[in-house]
Amino acid sequence: MLAAKNLSTENQLLAAIPRQAYRRMLKAVFPVELVYGQVLYEPKDPIRHVYFPIDCLVSLLTAVDEHRTLEVGMVGNEGMVGMPMALGIGVSAVRALVQGHGTAMRMTSARFRSEFKNNPPLRQALFRYNHLLMAQISQTAACNRFHGMEARLARWLLMTSDRVRADEFLLTHEFLAHMLGVTRVGVTKAASILHRKNLIDYRRGSIKILDRKGLEAAACTCYRIVKDLQDNAQR
Ligand SMILES: [Zn+2]
Repeated sequence: MLAAKNLSTENQLLAAIPRQAYRRMLKAVFPVELVYGQVLYEPKDPIRHVYFPIDCLVSLLTAVDEHRTLEVGMVGNEGMVGMPMALGIGVSAVRALVQGHGTAMRMTSARFRSEFKNNPPLRQALFRYNHLLMAQISQTAACNRFHGMEARLARWLLMTSDRVRADEFLLTHEFLAHMLGVTRVGVTKAASILHRKNLIDYRRGSIKILDRKGLEAAACTCYRIVKDLQDNAQR
């Protein structure tokens, strides 16, 4: 998936750090281009770098067996990939898969440890983000169990749109099926319903949100619960 247009310029966690500390950190973070399908970590992999997405999107996937994975969280402009490092753990529990290509700021884990220890505003921002990510993952777990495909698809599209700050993405139904843990046919059926309601438009490999308010009404409550938590945390 790709963001067709991008309005974001900076990672929100980095933006929350006071200028002086931020300038010092800038010497240790470097922009990297992440490409669609790139795996940043597999479960049990050592975390060698953390990533602060700017206009890319990374999915956190849990494997249930050799062939099946399910998306349990997503990280965009609002967060950091490699959060176990902020908890003193140097190993990933999930697969981190790039699902929207773009730029991220990358920092070595060794430097991150030192920044985390010596940079209280960064630490505070990461504690807050960890809470939000846990809330997102918990809500996603409940959503996958209780909510219908159409509502989940609407939620997923809105969450993706918020994180890449774009209304149009390049992605396939097959990819969406992997993310949502359903069949490709299930995704196509749900997308057709949203399309008939004029909420989205899709062509081969591309989805565009036409009516954001309508899509919010079609989404399950999980979208609003997580979004409100995030908006309140930023105040
Ligand atoms: Zn839900």
